[in-house]
Amino acid sequence: MMIIKYPEKVLRQKAKPVGKITREIFDLAEAMTTTMLENNGVGLAANQVGSLFNLFTINLKPFADKPEPIVVINPRVIKKYEDSEEDEEGCLSFPGLFLHIPRYKYIVLHYQNLYNEKIIIEAEGLVARAIQHEYDHLNGVLFIDYITEKEREKLNEYHSNLNTV
Ligand code: ZN
Repeated sequence: MMIIKYPEKVLRQKAKPVGKITREIFDLAEAMTTTMLENNGVGLAANQVGSLFNLFTINLKPFADKPEPIVVINPRVIKKYEDSEEDEEGCLSFPGLFLHIPRYKYIVLHYQNLYNEKIIIEAEGLVARAIQHEYDHLNGVLFIDYITEKEREKLNEYHSNLNTV
């Protein structure tokens, strides 16, 4: 699938809840999983491929030889705890841009899978970071919205490169 790049408007749109799990949802989730893994992404949200369904994919084992992708439908972050930590973060919709973004270290996420089961998972570190990042995407929020003054220059440079291509 083609990954939609910033500043396309769909990246600022809010996702709509998924009702019945249809063939369309299955196919979308499968294609997104493949696209995420092919691009070495830890996560991918539906609006990054031009869909407004409220779902994202995450690779729970980003450092392992064998990935463990999951499909997260109608997610809700129900708990975030421990101090936030800052680390470098990228986004498949912003190729080449890496920013230090603060995120919570641990989160608890409530979601549905493709089989309509209600699932609760706890995540930490990079996976927790990726979940917060994808969850934001579904609300039209992008990682550049958290930028610190220190890195503002990096973003300005990214913008001016966009304008010259
Ligand atoms: Zn992203």
